[in-house]
Amino acid sequence: MSSTTSTEEQTVRSSQETLLEVNDLKTYYEDGGLFGSQPVKAVDGVSFEIEKGETLGLVGESGCGKSTLGRTLMRLEEATAGEVKLNGTDITTLSGTDLKQFREDVQMVFQDPDSSLNQRMTIGEIIREPLDVHEWKTPTERRARVRELLETVGLQEEHYYRYPHQFSGGQRQRIGIARALALEPDFIILDEPVSALDVSVQAKVLNLLEDLQNEFDLTYLFIAHDLAVVKHICDRVAVMYLGNIMEIGPADEMFENPANPYTHALLSAIPEPDPSGNRDRITLRGTPPSPRDPPTGCPFSTRCPVKIRPNEYETLDDDLWQRIEIFREVLRERGRAEISLSDRVRKILGRETAQAGVDETVTELFGEFNVPADVQQHIDEAAEYAENDDEEAAQAYLQEEFGSICDSERPDQLEVGQNGRLSLCHRHDGAYEEPATVFETLIQ
Ligand code: ADP
Ligand code: MG
Repeated sequence: MSSTTSTEEQTVRSSQETLLEVNDLKTYYEDGGLFGSQPVKAVDGVSFEIEKGETLGLVGESGCGKSTLGRTLMRLEEATAGEVKLNGTDITTLSGTDLKQFREDVQMVFQDPDSSLNQRMTIGEIIREPLDVHEWKTPTERRARVRELLETVGLQEEHYYRYPHQFSGGQRQRIGIARALALEPDFIILDEPVSALDVSVQAKVLNLLEDLQNEFDLTYLFIAHDLAVVKHICDRVAVMYLGNIMEIGPADEMFENPANPYTHALLSAIPEPDPSGNRDRITLRGTPPSPRDPPTGCPFSTRCPVKIRPNEYETLDDDLWQRIEIFREVLRERGRAEISLSDRVRKILGRETAQAGVDETVTELFGEFNVPADVQQHIDEAAEYAENDDEEAAQAYLQEEFGSICDSERPDQLEVGQNGRLSLCHRHDGAYEEPATVFETLIQ
């Protein structure tokens, strides 16, 4: 963890080996065969490595695929495609005794200790269960092991016969941790382990996790949405958005100087006491697109504040440009929305439907603007397609005129800086201005 940063230790770490290697992993949730339905692309092609003994943080907004990724690494979800190598062995296809061994080596601690602990079992039984399932040594040794684990996580021997409801949230999370440690795993996935706890309790549990890592040489994947927690506890951080890792690299460096536009936006949203009051703020408009229908190009393209523009629009007013982007998003949503029953009736009767409200939207967005004639013409043309219920043609038209590489091509993970940091953004490829530079001009 990041508290150990002496030069000596860093040299030790750089000589360490890879524990986990993930290659182009995808996990899709299929809808029980609904005709024509798209799968939820919860994890959509991620690649990364975790070194032995390190803590990799995994952050991102709710619904971006963090838990699904964690659960896929645990073999609680089946991977749709890709590889997960633990100590060099692909675990996505393990079975029999190999799978059983894997289930000893990798453990998970869940966010909500209430629902993850069986309320009808005593603490002793809960912690002992994995030992029983794996027929670990003799029953007497298992009991002794449970008592030892209770002490390890800061609970008492007399807690053995109590039930989960007799404990506080923090204590229950300690029980979950003891259970995860029972079979002496190498790798623990912590899925928002302190999110449900009071701040004062959070610190204690985090300290416990750090101590345990040092004592037992554990490797952690630490899932969180609280960036302050991640900053404190992680060596490296992966930032996830819509099933993709947008940026991954050393925690300090990334917090100091984010390379990817999404990391930038995510960090600028953290409230931080800044006496000078000049913290850069980027407000992200809208919400992430549906993981059933992610953008074709860059996952972040529909919301990116520094999206690449076609040359002829580079100097267009920023506010106007944003409005064009919003218009495109409205059309996307409109195309996806089911036409309502009353609209259907109106349509059958040959009356105007709500779809005709495109005019309204156009006025709302551009009415008060001094829009250059050529831009106005493109907007009107697209609006006309939409009014004739052809959102697809409207979108295609705007894409043709205002779209860029960000809409059409998925970026590669490109290296930024010297410390193995990777970022998914077309702006890193040299032909364009770096995201950070564009942010600077936006904030001024
Ligand atoms: P996070 O942990 O980052 O909040 P999740 O991995 O829980 O995100 O969810 C990622 C996406 O997958 C979300 O859109 C969520 O609704 C969807 N999802 C999660 N579990 C299932 C499931 N069992 N079936 C279908 N969709 C799911
Ligand atoms: Mg989750």
